[in-house]
Amino acid sequence: MSQHRLSGIGMTSERTRARMVERLREQGIRDMLVLAAMAQVPRHLFVSEALALRAYEDTALPIGLGQTISHPYSVARMLEVLRNGRDMQRVLEVGSGCGYQAAILSKIAREVYSVERISSLLGQARRAIRELRLNNIKLKHGDGNVGLPEWAPFDGIVLAAAAVEPPAALLAQLADGGRMVLPRGFGDQQFMVLIEREGDVFHEQVLETVHFVPLLTGVA
Ligand code: SAH
Repeated sequence: MSQHRLSGIGMTSERTRARMVERLREQGIRDMLVLAAMAQVPRHLFVSEALALRAYEDTALPIGLGQTISHPYSVARMLEVLRNGRDMQRVLEVGSGCGYQAAILSKIAREVYSVERISSLLGQARRAIRELRLNNIKLKHGDGNVGLPEWAPFDGIVLAAAAVEPPAALLAQLADGGRMVLPRGFGDQQFMVLIEREGDVFHEQVLETVHFVPLLTGVA
């Protein structure tokens, strides 16, 4: 990618990003670290050049293969709930897509692991993340339903695709005291859910309605 794209001009500038962050504040996002990360990461680098001018609109955008880059508000809200003011060491994301949320996570957690089932999307994500030199992200091709047992436990797990039930393997990979945030349900019946682990007890809290693509099984 050219220097021109990285520095950003006009609609893809720092100023446009600052306006997006201002909107997030108005929508109720309070976590300063999340807001700072969203002000920093150039969202336009995660979408095709044809869509770069729309990258800062508060909307989900297509990234190919029927998948979307999540709404800025959804990313901010999920990560605010995930973090809950903590210093996070190791986090797992299921559904890297274009890599945008992983990039935001890289600013608010020490180590980020992100699993994507579609290998060609992972290629796009790798390019953007390499270009931004975000060295604390490990992208993995695989089925996120099984998580990454070799790197567990995680003190945060976030799903970018909606599951009817929280996958058992992911619950098992959550650290004691850890938090998992996922869109739960299917179709138009989805809620953001927070699961907190306390020993062998998992406390579940239902938050706002959301709309995500479904969590599938297997790899592509
Ligand atoms: N995190 C992205 C959002 C991607 S959309 C962002 O920052 O915008 C959700 C992604 O989840 C899609 O790319 C989809 O392919 C992926 N996905 C769905 N089921 C999955 C599974 N079982 N394992 C890993 N990824 C999955």
